[in-house]
Amino acid sequence: MRQALHAAGIAEADADARHLLAWALKCDASGLILAADRPLGTEAADALAALLARRLRREPMARLKGTREFWGLEFELSAETLVPRPDTETLVEAVLRARPERTAPLRIIDLGTGSGALLAALLAEYPRASGVATDRSRLALSTARTNLARHGFTARAAVVACDWGTALGGRFDVVVSNPPYIATADIAGLDPEVRVFDPAAALDGGADGLAAYRAILADLPRLLTPGGLAVLELGIGQAAAVANLAVAAGLVVREVAADLAGHPRALVATLQADLGAMLETNSPNSR
Ligand code: GLN
Repeated sequence: MRQALHAAGIAEADADARHLLAWALKCDASGLILAADRPLGTEAADALAALLARRLRREPMARLKGTREFWGLEFELSAETLVPRPDTETLVEAVLRARPERTAPLRIIDLGTGSGALLAALLAEYPRASGVATDRSRLALSTARTNLARHGFTARAAVVACDWGTALGGRFDVVVSNPPYIATADIAGLDPEVRVFDPAAALDGGADGLAAYRAILADLPRLLTPGGLAVLELGIGQAAAVANLAVAAGLVVREVAADLAGHPRALVATLQADLGAMLETNSPNSR
């Protein structure tokens, strides 16, 4: 099994083999040791063969398991949700640094929520906060709703089907998003686990990878409270370009937070305290 996984180009062949066997036997790591000398029953052997075949086609371990952990919480996945990445926890940390008052009744939006992981992590950290998660995919929203319910956040969270924040009214204290940011031409070069199994809508950022940032940033002066916080995930090499777009939209860049590998991963910006009010006074509706 190990050799087959290795030959399929899978780097973590040993660990994957152990996990697949444990799942087929419906046991944990210590159960594996106990089972080591016994032959596999037919049911476990069939289950293992099915799991192995899927992994050999490079289906990610998280999708074989059906869940992935993010910020210490477990999230269900579906075909239209990205597998939550540890890198994205950089955004949660950045929000916690920028808004250290945990009892603040923050109003939060997660644009393009997928599995709901970012919003759920923030609601877990801010017990008096409430939030809205948006996504264009109905299937993703249904997965997000399930995940928010599973962690007890139904009363503090709503899900809304729309592009980014277009259907939302009112203003929010915190906006987070992990938008699609891979340049279309670069998608072909991604690992099959990502290219084939993560939804294209969660990856494809258009010709230069920045299309979603343009759409989101253009709407943030309308969606944020004066002084409100925006934390956006960044792809490799995109910090300067996205910072420029943020400044052009009227935001002030506060920080570019690095992930555990040292890559600039999260843009932290605020809406100038007076800009929201200024835009309101100048908007045609209020004249
Ligand atoms: N971080 C993901 C990857 O590199 C991409 C997700 C995204 O585009 N937001 O595979």
